[in-house]
Amino acid sequence: MEELQDLYQEIILSHNKRPRNERDLPGCTHEAEGYNPLCGDKVKVFLKVEGGVVVDVSFHGEGCAISRASASMMTERLKGCPEAEIDRRVAEVVDMLAGPVEPALDLARDGDLAALAGVRKFPARIKCATLAWRAAGEALHHGKTGAG
Ligand code: ZN
Repeated sequence: MEELQDLYQEIILSHNKRPRNERDLPGCTHEAEGYNPLCGDKVKVFLKVEGGVVVDVSFHGEGCAISRASASMMTERLKGCPEAEIDRRVAEVVDMLAGPVEPALDLARDGDLAALAGVRKFPARIKCATLAWRAAGEALHHGKTGAG
């Protein structure tokens, strides 16, 4: 099991070092900020919704490796997703991290999200890992920019 923990940690660190989609998103239709006072993490999430589909997602994030890796994974998971599916995907991950039942995930099937789920073991860090996902939901429901 220790080797698996190391592998999970490596995945998190690699996302932190080379985050996917950490950039501006010109013409974004939705945006929201999230702040985690427990750790000092800040994230800003941008969505571009066209024809009922999230065609692009990006973020800017400052904070710990978990918060940044989680934001990076969020952009990959939500890009290309139908707008109507976002809530479900966000809830799935929040539940995976903070829900009562330990999820049965494996790296082959669930990819990097399985590594993120390892954060469950560290309750103080769960808010770091859910921050960007909650911000994405917030952007969708309350963060219309007026573009698009
Ligand atoms: Zn953090």
